[in-house]
Parts: sequence; structure tokens; C-alpha cells
Amino acid sequence: MQSRWLWCSVGPNDMSRVLVLATTTGYQTRAFGEAAERLGVELVFATDRCHLIEDPWQDHAIPIRFYDEDASVAAILESARTRPIDGLLVAGDRPTVIGARVAEQLGLPWHPPAGAIAARHKQRTRERLRDAGLPVPWFFAVALSAQPSAVPAPLSYPCVVKPVALSGSRGVMRADDPASYEAALERLRAIMRQPDVRAERNDAHADALVEELIPGREYALEGLMHHGALHALAIFDKPDPLDGPFFEETIYLTPSSATADLQRAIVDGVTRAAHALGLCHGPVHAECRVSRSTGGDVFVLEAAARPIGGLCARALRFQSAIRNPQSAISLEELLLRHALGADPAPYERETIASGVMMIPIPRRGILRGVDGIDAARAVAGVDEVHITAKPDQLLVPLPEGASYLGFIFARGDRPDLVEQALRAAHAQLVFTIDPELPVLTAGQIHYNLLHG
Ligand code: ADP
Repeated sequence: MQSRWLWCSVGPNDMSRVLVLATTTGYQTRAFGEAAERLGVELVFATDRCHLIEDPWQDHAIPIRFYDEDASVAAILESARTRPIDGLLVAGDRPTVIGARVAEQLGLPWHPPAGAIAARHKQRTRERLRDAGLPVPWFFAVALSAQPSAVPAPLSYPCVVKPVALSGSRGVMRADDPASYEAALERLRAIMRQPDVRAERNDAHADALVEELIPGREYALEGLMHHGALHALAIFDKPDPLDGPFFEETIYLTPSSATADLQRAIVDGVTRAAHALGLCHGPVHAECRVSRSTGGDVFVLEAAARPIGGLCARALRFQSAIRNPQSAISLEELLLRHALGADPAPYERETIASGVMMIPIPRRGILRGVDGIDAARAVAGVDEVHITAKPDQLLVPLPEGASYLGFIFARGDRPDLVEQALRAAHAQLVFTIDPELPVLTAGQIHYNLLHG
């Protein structure tokens, strides 16, 4: 059967149209735009933005509010009546359920809404995986509003305290004893009071999940589900230990150095987790721990109904044996092709090793400058260095923060050489971070004015 995308580019009037649900213009939306241009596909964006300002980004996006799923689905369906869509894509965690509901209404193959809902909710994920007989840590939910005296103690230490529905490791903390458990819950309460979290208006934010800490190595799997079958696009090693107290992602390397047996076990674990959640068609990004204490069981910590986030996708390029083995395409282009019906099976990741470092924020403060970028770019094997934090931006590290300083990409003959290149490039970067100015109360300002 001819792939759908092959007839996409016959002319502007016959263009296929793909809906992209995303937060306001980010790196990934630009990458989708570039891929669409190459394929001759029209994109329609639906983004979380203010309805009152008329098309502020001039991209004719459908304005939606992620927190209002019913109204967002209705707005997209209304738009699709005059601008019919042939496929859809979702970037980021928050619009996954809206995307699934739209796909269901339009009869487009995609993850079903129930699967997207379970995948976005860490407690539901645990329940589904446990009920399907997959290895899961012990877990229980705690109402963050509960009095400390009413909060149950963990079954054992160390444990992990985390929000039920945030992402990017935000708010995820290790606790080793009753005192650090109490402190983690208190810190999480403060995070959940932050304005951007409250603006999500997500009922799931009322709870924390407490669970067993699974010791061991961690891997990420990037995959595409195609009518129920998981096509593994890449398994990433995470070479830095993720033992807490917070769980900041730094380096991703592929191909994985895990044994072929372990890689099969990871793919098998993610496939079973995706089926248990009800995910069946579209991207899946999963995090797995290979337990040291249970002799190598693969614990799927999460399987999200979306692709790898933001700039990290640049670490992945694919080749099709059928099409043109010489020309590599981006993850976004592969996702677009898939959204329009292409089978991902002929696509394999390029053979060269590849990696990305998400540059961690070393401490809270105001970013004043970055030196050494040229020297970092000059490190052999380094492809790109992107500093995404802006001058004078307040940098907030985990567990409160939700961003990185930037990204370094490298490619090479072997993953260990790529890792060395990433670390050498990072060592060249010097960040000037000033302490944050203290916030003065009106009384303090008055006092300072009076007393100099
Ligand atoms: P998020 O969706 O915000 O990334 P996760 O639940 O996936 O939250 O946790 C983020 C990271 O925290 C994981 O990638 C892992 O390193 C660590 N982590 C979370 N839960 C556990 C656990 N039960 N045992 C060990 N590490 C964990």
C-alpha cells in the first residue's frame, strides 16, 4: 500500500493537513514546521494561549486552553469543519488528552482518551501496570491538604515523593527517613502553590504519590506505536546516576550499551506497559529502571503518550532502507509521516552514536552571561551547543524549576566517545549567575528609604 505522505505534496490545494497540539511556539513546533515544509504538508496549530489577543503569533493557530478540555476539543472540531485535518501530533504532556479526544471524534488512528488520561496520571499509571502484572514499586497517594499527623508513613525508606501530574522530574524528591519525608511533602506543597502550577487548574495536583525508590540504572525508550505494535526508535542510556535527592536528567546516549537481552527486556516492558495503559497508536516516550535489588527486573516508571520533549529530539535522525538510505530525516519528519499513515517499520535510527546533554542549572540565581560557547562547539564530535536560558532570566533548579540552561549535542563512532565529547564541551562552559535580589516588603522599602 502506498504511504499517505507520498501523495501529500502534489500541490497547495491537495495538501494534507496535520493538527499539532502544543504549548505556544517552542523548538519542537518550529521543527515540525520545517519538516512539514519539506514534505509539502500544511500544519494547523492548536496552542494554549489567550483568546483575547487576536492571533498574537500570526500563525493562525486555534487558541485553546489546556485546562478546559471540553472547550478545546470543541474549538478544534469546529475549526476542522472548514479546515479538515488528516492526522495529528501532540508535543508536550499537557495536551495529550485533548489530542486523543479530537482523534477519537474525527476517527483518526491515535491513542484512545482513556490511555492518554492514564499515561498522564502517575497514580493511574501505577495502578494499570500493577493490575497487568508488571513490576511496580509499592505506592500510595497522599492528599497534600492533609494535616501532617494524618499522612501515612512510607512502607520503607528510601522512597520517592512526587506530584501526580507534573513532568520533567519537577517536584520529584527522595526521602531517606521520616524527617526528609516530611520535608519533601512540605516542599512539594510549596511547589504546587506556584502560580504556573495553579494555572494548570488540574485536580490531580491536589495529591502526591509516595513510592518505593527503585535502585538501578535508568534508560529511556523513544517509540512509535503503530496500530497496537511498538516500534522502538531508540533506547537511550542515562550514564549519570539518578539516585536523588532530586532526579535531574543530564545525558542521553544512544545506541544503548545494555546487552541485547536487556534491550529486548526494555522493549518488552514498555510494550506491555503501553498495552496496560491502553496506548496503541502514536508516539510513546518511556522511562525505565532496571532494578539492582530484584535482579534486573525492568520497572517502567512512565510511558507518556507523546514524543521526547523539546530540543532533545535533535539527537535522533532516521533512515529508511526503502526510501533513500543516504538521506536522514528528523524525528519530527518521521512523526509527521506517521501521522499521515506511514508505517514506521522501514525507519531505523542512523548507525552513528548520538547523545544530548540537558545542561543542568547549578544553582538558583540570575543568569548574567555564558562564556566558552565557541570552545564547547569546537570540541571534536560536538554538533551543536544551544543555550536556551535568556540573559537576566531567573534560573530555578530542581525540584522547583522546570527548565534547563541549554543543550549540547554530539555524534561519534561510539557512545562512550559521544559521552566524553558532551562532558568536555560542558566543561568549557562558564555560567555567570548572580544571586537573586531579595524581595523587599513594603515595610522594608519604607525603612530603607528612611534610614538610607
Ligand atoms: P516526570 O514525569 O516528572 O519525569 P517521573 O515519575 O518519571 O516524573 O520521575 C522522574 C525521575 O525521577 C525518573 O526518571 C527517575 O530518575 C526518578 N524516579 C521517579 N520515581 C522513581 C522511583 N520509584 N524509583 C527510582 N527513581 C525514580
